[in-house]
Amino acid sequence: MKLNFSIDIERCLKEIEDFDEIKKTYCNNPYYFFNHYRNLKNKSSKEIIDFFKNNREEIEKELIRRKNLIEKNWNKINNIFFSEIERITESKWKYKSYRCHVCCVWAGRYDNYKNEITVFAFFNKPDYLATIAEELLHLHFWEITRKLQIRIEEENLKDFKNNFYWQLSECIPCLVFSHSDIKLKLKFGKYPDWKEVRKVFKKIRPLWDNKRNFTDFLKNAFNFISPQK
Ligand SMILES: [Zn+2]
Repeated sequence: MKLNFSIDIERCLKEIEDFDEIKKTYCNNPYYFFNHYRNLKNKSSKEIIDFFKNNREEIEKELIRRKNLIEKNWNKINNIFFSEIERITESKWKYKSYRCHVCCVWAGRYDNYKNEITVFAFFNKPDYLATIAEELLHLHFWEITRKLQIRIEEENLKDFKNNFYWQLSECIPCLVFSHSDIKLKLKFGKYPDWKEVRKVFKKIRPLWDNKRNFTDFLKNAFNFISPQK
């Protein structure tokens, strides 16, 4: 399995135009973004968009530099990551290769049912490795649930923070990386980062600890909490 890295400044410039949306996703504080772009703190969305337009070449150069570094460090754990996730989830990866868009806008994203993820270029090493691992695992999770006849459509994710399947999906990386025998040490806490998912996490944690296997765990989790609630 391979992860191919790339940058796309056009795409970043387009995505930054939705800066209000990005802020909303991160509870009005895209901390990772302002950690790097300190000069943009307290600036309006318009000023931020203009900054990116006016410094396009400089930013693109930085992105390429970061992409090369991230790629080099990810490659050291690439094989163990893909094989360990197959072992823990007892499911093969759907695609032979995946793409990672190294971006200066979003912290991390995945394109559901595709083979593409996004990672923020200016995270430090533990954070970018953990983010890449998390986003790839999300893609894998949705392919496994699809086999169990559970498929999530874009419109079901409009109010994503209240969506049970999304909440469950955000518990999975923490369970796999902090509460399993995975042979890969990445920066994950004992609890999921999103506070919206901690309630679900508490409920499903015992199911995880007592599972027979990964699919068994998922089925129990789906039965345990009605998606309608
Ligand atoms: Zn996530």
